[in-house]
Amino acid sequence: MRDDRLTSSTQTPQPWNAGPLQRGCGACVLYTFRLVLTISYLHRAIRKQSTKESNIMNGSCACGSVTFTTPTDTPLNLFHCHCIACRKQSSSAFGTSAIFPFFRVDDNPSVSYFSRTCDSGRKQNCYFCNKCGSRILHAHVFEGRDPEVVAVKGGLLEGLNWEGGKHIFCRSAVVPIPEGVERWEGEPDFSKPAPKV
Ligand SMILES: [Zn+2]
Ligand SMILES: [Zn+2]
Repeated sequence: MRDDRLTSSTQTPQPWNAGPLQRGCGACVLYTFRLVLTISYLHRAIRKQSTKESNIMNGSCACGSVTFTTPTDTPLNLFHCHCIACRKQSSSAFGTSAIFPFFRVDDNPSVSYFSRTCDSGRKQNCYFCNKCGSRILHAHVFEGRDPEVVAVKGGLLEGLNWEGGKHIFCRSAVVPIPEGVERWEGEPDFSKPAPKV
């Protein structure tokens, strides 16, 4: 009779009678809780890492000898320049400059540069890949210090958002300027309201 009750109790454990099976479930709950904590920690770490990685843009020249990452994930400004110098440097109708905080590319032996004097009289170093000839970026030259920004050639950048680019030196444009864009006939003057087409 006593044996029957024990068997019955083991087969249908009651909530107020914590048997071996329920103690096992308690351990499972604790294990699951720790597992959830570990997974959420890993998720946070992965999210943090991916945020860090997305905080840049990747760029490369045509042959891949020059690769670089920008210091921010979006440019500070974006210009489509229709001046004759930009037409020549891009071998196309206009050149696109994505302005980023200063960073170096000349620590790569595949990068060379030449210097030119702009219409404004300022000196500019123009960096390019000495294997394939892709122009990489332009940087104004300052005495004794690095410039604050560099003009990265837009076509080298992965995932660049081309919307909102400002068209400059439109007086020498050889292609139509799209309607509704910010348009400057020469160098932009940021002290004046932006003219539109
Ligand atoms: Zn190259
Ligand atoms: Zn230009």
